[in-house]
Parts: sequence; structure tokens; C-alpha cells
Amino acid sequence: MENNALNFRSNELFLIAGPCAVESENQLRTILMNENRPRLIRGGIHKMRTNAKSFQGMGDEGMEIVKKMKKEIPFDFITEVTDARQIEALLPITSVFQVGARNMYNYELLKELSRYGRPVILKRAFSATISEWLGAAEYLFNLGEKNIILCERGVRSFDNKLRNLLDLGSVIYLKKNTPFKIIVDPSHSMGLTPYVADAAYAAVAAGADGLIVEVHPEPAVALSDGQQALNIPQFDEMVQKLHKLAPIFGKELRM
Ligand code: PEP
Ligand code: MN
Repeated sequence: MENNALNFRSNELFLIAGPCAVESENQLRTILMNENRPRLIRGGIHKMRTNAKSFQGMGDEGMEIVKKMKKEIPFDFITEVTDARQIEALLPITSVFQVGARNMYNYELLKELSRYGRPVILKRAFSATISEWLGAAEYLFNLGEKNIILCERGVRSFDNKLRNLLDLGSVIYLKKNTPFKIIVDPSHSMGLTPYVADAAYAAVAAGADGLIVEVHPEPAVALSDGQQALNIPQFDEMVQKLHKLAPIFGKELRM
């Protein structure tokens, strides 16, 4: 897949899963050993944390782990690029770049990314209107519609019970009014493990083209976002249900 578009087909529900951040060889290997694992694996190398004292990602060491694991078990890798200076180093291991919510308005980063021809998942910023989000997507114009994937990851609201407010209205609207593929991140939307799978099912019903979900072999010891990670049995259960649910909405789960 390395240099191609994600090649989404309209009858496919595309699943992406993996840890919030790459933490160790063991962690990644355990996820990759799961026979239910998707082909496209997420994993933060450079993290944009709200607190400067929080784990910032493994950086170069994380890239080495991904390189080594790719030789053991082939997979496509998606990771967030938090600064344009990381792009060249990430290119050899990255099939799809992710622009995080905190960087949606970083137009210089978007312009730079648009030069590489690699698909980009553009997350919605915390308080971005749909128009602002589409405006940001315009900066990726050179990539063409096929290589730009919008990701709804929940927005700020007046409520604080959940991490964010999963705006499925945006998914419904974007599917009907734009050519872009749209995926949903139920992990960052809900912020708590027990709600993630149900939010994923709701996203399918809203017409999402895909899902990006955080999975960790041992969420209790995760260095970031453990409170919203599915463990492997929980992930497997979700996958089984998605296999059954997708056809109701005219899709087939693509791993
Ligand atoms: C992430 O995907 O780990 C992440 C930081 O997401 P967001 O940018 O949506 O907060
Ligand atoms: Mn995360």
C-alpha cells in the first residue's frame, strides 16, 4: 500500500486499530500477533499531549521498533506527524499520515504534507466547524480527494461526562455533501473503554467509511490514553459484531 491511496471502496468499512502510542516491541508485537488485526495499524511516534510533562512518544526509538516489526510481520502503518520536520524520517515506515486535532489549523504543515502523495487522515479540531474542517482539507488539495480522509473524533461541548461529543451529524452531512471519505474515532470521542464499541456501531449506522480505534494489550499500564483503549478480547468482540453489522448498511468489514 505504501505509495498508493487507501483504496477505500464505497462498499467497504475500513478498520484501523492500534495503540495510542508505540511503547515497546512487546506491545506492538502482541497487537500484531492477533489474527484479527487489521492491515493498517495506528501508533503514535510523536505525541501531542495537552500536558508538557506527559509521555511525548518514543520518537526515533519508536520508529526503530516499527521498522523491526514490519520485517517480522508485514503491516501498513499510520502515525501522526506533529511537525513538518518529521515527515522525511517517517516516510519509509508510514503508509498514511495523520494530522491530529491540535494541528488541523496548522496550514503550513498541511501544505507541506500535500507534497508527498501519501494519504492523509485529517482529524477535526476540538471546536472546528464543518466549514473550517473542509477549509483545512483544501490545503491538502494536491493529494486529490481520494487521498484525503476526514476523521470525526468528537468536539468540545458544554458537557464533561465524556471526553468529547461524538458528532455523528457531521458524518451524515459530509457523506451527503462532499466527496471525501470519512472515518470515525470512537476512542477519542468517548474517552472511556466501555463506550467505545457502541460508538463504533453508531458510526457505522451514520454512514462512516471506516473506524480508527485504540487497542492496547494491557490498557492499565498504557503510557497514554489507557482509559479509552480496548484490550484484545474487547477488540475481537467488536470486530465480530462489525462483521455482522456492516452488511446491514451495505458494507463489508475490511481489515
Ligand atoms: C491520537 O490519535 O492519539 C490523538 C492524539 O488524537 P486527536 O488528535 O484526535 O486528539
Ligand atoms: Mn490517543
